[in-house]
Amino acid sequence: MNDSSPQQSSQNQSTWASIATWRMAYEGMVKSSSGLEEGGQAGDAVETLIQEVEANPDYTSVGYGALPNREGEMEMDAAFMDGNNMALGAVAGIQYALHPISVARRLSRRHTSSFLVGQGATRYAQISGFEMRNMLTDRARRRWELESAKATRPESAGPYRGHDTVGAICLDLQGSMAAGTSTSGLFMKEPGRVGDSPLPGSGFYVDSAVGGAAATGLGEDIMKGCLSYRIVALMGRGLTPQEACDSAVYEFYSLLRKRCGKVGEISLIALNTRGEWGVATNVEFTFCTARKGEQTRILMANPDGKSGTRIDPVAKDWLQ
Ligand code: ASP
Repeated sequence: MNDSSPQQSSQNQSTWASIATWRMAYEGMVKSSSGLEEGGQAGDAVETLIQEVEANPDYTSVGYGALPNREGEMEMDAAFMDGNNMALGAVAGIQYALHPISVARRLSRRHTSSFLVGQGATRYAQISGFEMRNMLTDRARRRWELESAKATRPESAGPYRGHDTVGAICLDLQGSMAAGTSTSGLFMKEPGRVGDSPLPGSGFYVDSAVGGAAATGLGEDIMKGCLSYRIVALMGRGLTPQEACDSAVYEFYSLLRKRCGKVGEISLIALNTRGEWGVATNVEFTFCTARKGEQTRILMANPDGKSGTRIDPVAKDWLQ
């Protein structure tokens, strides 16, 4: 479906490109790349890529088979943004929906009530005909049982055990860009907790005239810096995606360390209208990229000194 036309994007676009967080995005990126190659839309590519991760029970931080909150319930956050008309939709704490990204995308077509939380989000998905299922696999339930047996008091269940968001930004041959995120948030999180992933400007942002960014890591820290918006704003002022990521992430990391003493994991990806990408992170971080005429790649980013990022190819066996 054509969500919007690329009114603000660059003319005579000759390439398509995608970037997404973590190795888990690989299969979805391969699938969505063939759509982009055939002239498909950026929004469809983002949704296809993220749906693939959501449906895979082997990925324990997104969608089916992900890890639950402290009470053993799966609460998921997701968002979608169209970089042409800035339409955005999001859900937080949604339950039972197999594809939170698709619910978020549907919501992005509304002008009001486009960000729904908790029961309202779940009810909306149900009555709108989205596939609903018990998202907790036996394996996820067993891991929750083991973890809860260790926690004698609610607050002793650590706030940061097992995480990872799939975040994706795609550019199509027409020059349109879109971004999306999906996650079950932190394992053993407090019921009702919302991370950065559904929050525009923090977990994701995209503008087809400039580029897009998306985040993964400790949401509570990422949202303090509105890092995705910050990166897009820097690209808008002429920085390359890599310069924008380095500047936003490492400057904010230093500031937070100085002011708060501690900083969680923070990793950001970015893509511009020319299909150039950038990444910055304060931990070892895998990500995937694809571009017209290039193979889909899995790469590894590491912080390198105070304000730089080292990028290495990932060994082939990482795929197995
Ligand atoms: N950013 C996500 C959250 O805080 C988790 C992650 O990406 O690791 O919910």
